[in-house]
Amino acid sequence: MARYIFVTGGVVSSLGKGLSSASLAYLLKSQGYKVRIRKMDPYLNVDPGTMSPFQHGEVFVTNDGAETDLDLGHYERFTNISAKKSDNITTGKIYSDIIKKERKGKYLGKTVQVIPHVTDRIREFIKEDITNEDFVICEIGGTVGDIESLPYVEAIRQFSNEVGRSKSLFIHLTFVPFLKSSDEIKTKPTQHSVKELRSLGIQPDIIICRSQKNIPLDQRKKISLFCNVSIENVIETVDVRTIYEAPISFYNEKLDKQVLKYFKLKPKKKVNLQPWKKITKTVLNTKKVVNIAIIGKYVNLKDAYKSLDEALIHGGINNNVKVNLTRIESDKLKPNQINKILRNVSGILIPGGFGKRGTEGKISAIKYARKNKIPFLGICFGMQMAVIEFARNALKINNAGSSELDKNCYPVVGLLHEWNQDGKLIKGTNKNLGGTMRLGSYEAKLRHNSLVEKIYKSKTIFERHRHRYEVNNNLKNKFENKGMIFSGMSPDNKLPEIIELKNHPWFIGVQYHPEFKSRPLSPHPLFSSFIKAAKFY
Ligand code: GLN
Repeated sequence: MARYIFVTGGVVSSLGKGLSSASLAYLLKSQGYKVRIRKMDPYLNVDPGTMSPFQHGEVFVTNDGAETDLDLGHYERFTNISAKKSDNITTGKIYSDIIKKERKGKYLGKTVQVIPHVTDRIREFIKEDITNEDFVICEIGGTVGDIESLPYVEAIRQFSNEVGRSKSLFIHLTFVPFLKSSDEIKTKPTQHSVKELRSLGIQPDIIICRSQKNIPLDQRKKISLFCNVSIENVIETVDVRTIYEAPISFYNEKLDKQVLKYFKLKPKKKVNLQPWKKITKTVLNTKKVVNIAIIGKYVNLKDAYKSLDEALIHGGINNNVKVNLTRIESDKLKPNQINKILRNVSGILIPGGFGKRGTEGKISAIKYARKNKIPFLGICFGMQMAVIEFARNALKINNAGSSELDKNCYPVVGLLHEWNQDGKLIKGTNKNLGGTMRLGSYEAKLRHNSLVEKIYKSKTIFERHRHRYEVNNNLKNKFENKGMIFSGMSPDNKLPEIIELKNHPWFIGVQYHPEFKSRPLSPHPLFSSFIKAAKFY
């Protein structure tokens, strides 16, 4: 039977619960155990799919097509275990399940309540779709004491009673501030946070103390005493120089050792920290810088393109360069300033996006990259914009556009039924096309001798999608005659997946999101190749 590790947070948010959980998962996996990580989000949205990246950061997409919290991206990047739909749940999803059931009369006349109905549903979720995992790490979003997270805290308390203490472990992550004025580490917020947790019936087994400075033994003892946790289980985590150092730092602090000891287990094999040591060294010592411009709508919020930023850094690690990202707000990019703004960049990237604002700025930047032969990568919306730019300026279709943005344009990008031929609906590979998103992993066939085939070193790829609109395949010949080739197609040859330019050193647009599959320990080939092209630009 699986062992369950629950990770809660206290004092303040953004302490790095996701990174701590992901690091622990790596350490356990590396010692021979099968691990799953899940996230429980206390907000009322059914999934983060409709939430603005301004509010909640990036929406991460899993292979099986779930739109999930960006923490699942951290999990995947650190553990190389692909997350699934069943690894993220929100209060909105739980309530919507319960209300549907209630409407069908499934509660047989009972009063439907937070306890037991909501907590039961949370407990079901914790166990769902678990087979032969040794460990299931469940992170609870928010901070202990929030009204929203109360049902989760109650549910994990009940869960632990159900499976027994030998199969469940509580980790609490808190903040231990350093006060400059008195030159002191303060343990009081941790004491209060643990007190709050205990008042809800949970005694943490391990406390991870996030701190800017090393915590002296005396202070650790104090935390141990006041929080009723053995001294070895007071683990400190001091700010790391790069996130890739986190697994090393947690190993040095013996987090994994204490977890295994708790469950009376021994490592099945020796932990392998070498890859993390290697990339930490590369990240910290690399001097050569490559300037990449990301032109998008949500550039001011760092987490809005989390996986993308990570994938670019991975590409840099692979090429021994530091990637310096300049984020440019697309609606501030006026055509007459492009020269000046983009003069010093050696690669231009247009990420995924929705809606009209800023699109003309993106199109002007693409034209600049195409004409000046600057390495260009267009992702999803970025590929659609590249196709529109080419249609307007190379094919001279002046009103070329996307029906997402302008109903009266010539839709070189549109919904499938808008570009069907002879009144017949062209069926794509996904039966839901035409109204909903194409989500999750889909296959694409790569053209022989194309740049992408060389990059991927494969004829078939699987990548993750998140979009409604598609490039109009009816125009394929027109585009190809002018030098933009459709080098990746869906297996049925109906949906363009990749475009590239013949007369350009590196100009690629992809309909999918390669960033979701890049890992620090195995960088995505497309990003490595893009950064390499930028390095030699
Ligand atoms: N808005 C575009 C679509 O729905 C692109 C989406 C994206 O970039 N993820 O097709």
